Amino acid sequence: MSAEVPLLSVRGLKKYFPVHKGVLSKVVGQVKAVDDVSFDLAHGETLGLVGESGCGKTTAGRSILRLLKPTAGQVDFEGQDVTAAGREELRRLRQKMQIIFQDPYASLNPRMSVMDIVGEGMRVHGLVKGRNALEQAVRDLLEKVRLDPGYVNRYPHEFSGGQRQRIGIARALSLRPKFIVCDEAVSALDVSIQAQVINLLMDLRDEMGLAFLFVAHDLSVVRHISHRVAVMYLGKIVELCETRELFHRPMHPYTKALLSAVPKAEPGKKSERIILQGDVPSPLNPPPGCAFHTRCPVVMDHCKTEEPPVRDVGNGHTFVCHLED
Ligand code: SF4
Repeated sequence: MSAEVPLLSVRGLKKYFPVHKGVLSKVVGQVKAVDDVSFDLAHGETLGLVGESGCGKTTAGRSILRLLKPTAGQVDFEGQDVTAAGREELRRLRQKMQIIFQDPYASLNPRMSVMDIVGEGMRVHGLVKGRNALEQAVRDLLEKVRLDPGYVNRYPHEFSGGQRQRIGIARALSLRPKFIVCDEAVSALDVSIQAQVINLLMDLRDEMGLAFLFVAHDLSVVRHISHRVAVMYLGKIVELCETRELFHRPMHPYTKALLSAVPKAEPGKKSERIILQGDVPSPLNPPPGCAFHTRCPVVMDHCKTEEPPVRDVGNGHTFVCHLED
């Protein structure tokens, strides 16, 4: 990993969705799905982005790739401003920034063969010329994701969920990207298959020098693959640090609650499960002060009115809370 110039730099990223009402479709509010998110990602690094569903992590990933247009903020990829990129520039950038979707059943066109699904991008971007060379490139990619190259003319319905996700990975790799958003990429798979796909992604990352933003709702899923983890709550990152540090010294009460639900690696070691009361509040009307105060087990009076500060505990570990470390 190069620590100097980040591959990806995200600053103050916001994505708000207007809420319309009435026959005139008047804007009556904004859903603040992503609200001031900042982080860097180094070459070859994996950042896990975790939080309950609806916390904005998927929207953040898609806004970074400009599959959704950000409301505010800046995303630089290799020093190039993705948020301001024109059509042609964006096309070139997209080649280097790919996505693997959650649902391996819905993300592959059932009428396209593996050859077309995996080969289409290379054909459109002119990376490989001629049908034979393209077929060989697709076969090579299938081998890379540990699928039989002989499957090249099969269709998605002929594969299991895990195999389909491997086809999705081969498609993402086909444009030789440097950065991939894995958007809940293993969430729909059985636990044993999840482990296989995570191991595959780690091998590919190391072999090809890829960087991942690994979006997941489950901390145990990001534990092995991520170098660092960012925890999101109601559109904001509330804690960010190295993975080992997060599991050994969580600082934010929300992170502590999420971690208490993760099975312990050490047999016999148990910690008390922290049950959070209530649901995640609506991002249309987030609570004042600390957005987590309606569910925080250690809430204080001023948490309800004052926005918490960012606390830096050193070694790149930050959390957002009124509590001191
Ligand atoms: Fe809990 Fe207050 Fe910290 Fe928010 S700021 S997480 S309510 S202690």
